[in-house]
Amino acid sequence: EEDLALVEGRRAEAAEQAEAATRPVVAVVGRPNVGKSTLVNRILGRREAVVEDVPGVTRDRVAYDAEWSGRRFTVVDTGGWEVDATGIHLRVAEQAEVAVALSDVVLFVVDARVGATDTDESVVRLLRRSGKPVVLVANKVDDQKAELEAAALWSLGLGQPWPVSALHGRGSGDVLDAVLAELPDSTTVAGAYPRGGPRRVALLGRPNVGKSSLLNKLAGEERAVVDDVAGTTRDPVDELIELGGQPWRFVDTAGIRRRVHQTRGADFYASLRTQTALEKAEVAVVLVDASEAIAEQDIRVIQQVIDSGRALVIGYNKWDQVDEERQHFLEREIERELVQVTWAPRVNLSALTGRHTNRLVPALTTALESWDRRITTARLNAFLGEIVAAHPHPVRGGKQPRILFATQADTRPPRFVVFASGFIEHGYRRFLERRLREEFGFEGSPIEISVRVRE
Ligand code: GDP
Ligand code: GDP
Repeated sequence: EEDLALVEGRRAEAAEQAEAATRPVVAVVGRPNVGKSTLVNRILGRREAVVEDVPGVTRDRVAYDAEWSGRRFTVVDTGGWEVDATGIHLRVAEQAEVAVALSDVVLFVVDARVGATDTDESVVRLLRRSGKPVVLVANKVDDQKAELEAAALWSLGLGQPWPVSALHGRGSGDVLDAVLAELPDSTTVAGAYPRGGPRRVALLGRPNVGKSSLLNKLAGEERAVVDDVAGTTRDPVDELIELGGQPWRFVDTAGIRRRVHQTRGADFYASLRTQTALEKAEVAVVLVDASEAIAEQDIRVIQQVIDSGRALVIGYNKWDQVDEERQHFLEREIERELVQVTWAPRVNLSALTGRHTNRLVPALTTALESWDRRITTARLNAFLGEIVAAHPHPVRGGKQPRILFATQADTRPPRFVVFASGFIEHGYRRFLERRLREEFGFEGSPIEISVRVRE
């Protein structure tokens, strides 16, 4: 029963992460001291306003999860945005630009008591260029008298200025309604794999590693139960197998069972079959014959899984044939040939005896959880801020490229987009990936980091 609660918890978490991946982003921009942080705190429903009273004090952009009228979204609070800024101001301005680039809607805050300044006008030009929908907030309209000042902001040409008092809460609900109206409909994550139903597994490996033996072993005892699973449609080449109390869909098993004959061009067909299976699968189990030296073809299949962006578990089969000496050599082969997949869960098993075949399910579950995982923008940037401060990118040609902002753009597999002020070297990207994995795990899933350089 405890296990069941755990599974339920995991499901809820996975659903939560899937939802987070489609959450729209609202960027709050404006000059320093117009009340952006006060407004963000208001949106988040916080009492303690973390607000700096000193003009020109800049903060880094921070992202928060927010909700209004049952709709969830991410709010990015940018630092002050000074056009033609220098030094620390420039840095914050860059971050604001990046935040705008990544957002779905921009909340542009102007101090209605001051009116539109030259800086505000320049910001308007930048916002126009971004092509993003803009909701104009005329802030510090604490009472009705001040609403006239708000109306003056029609001159900015951004449509209706919404009179708001971020400090007292006046008008903030109307602004949020206006923001919701501009949000895109819940985007569904595009992808070849439909969600829901049993998770789809591709059982892969070069000929004779033991694929059909393992499939038979797994299907063996449970077959009767599996055929009874309600509401599951069966592709004739797929096989539903119940493992660890839940059904799993092993895709494209016909080729495994039929024992494809070794003929000329078999390699080509094998890799084609691998490809078709991967397209239907979410996670792959690559079987390797542990009693023999790791072959080039083993590495190629593993590479195919990584390239296809699927989760990966490596099964070292025929473990009943592995003695101490063989194991010693195997470990060194793995270190030499498979360093690029140290993140893949490993199961030493035997399809013949059944040894450790029960460890496949935990490994598959871990890999799929990583594949589905979503790190919130706030957490990601807090973490990146720390590691970048501790280990800045090396100076090259008198310049030091800086990481400005990062977001997880996608899951299945996790994909990160990092915005930087200059070219980020390969070595530093590897360092970022390693630290991301150390911090967040992602065991069993490839992750992708793409860097965009702000010109
Ligand atoms: P930011 O630099 O744009 O993030 O501005 P802050 O949120 O730090 O606010 C700057 C100052 O303006 C603070 O002293 C706030 O208390 C004040 N402030 C913010 N919103 C309002 C408002 O609606 N009315 C009034 N009277 N003051 C406000
Ligand atoms: P496939 O071509 O990958 O489907 O491999 P098969 O399942 O046909 O297995 C190839 C050969 O390896 C057969 O003779 C199997 O009996 C043998 N085999 C499979 N798994 C094991 C294992 O765990 N231990 C041993 N000793 N032999 C195995």
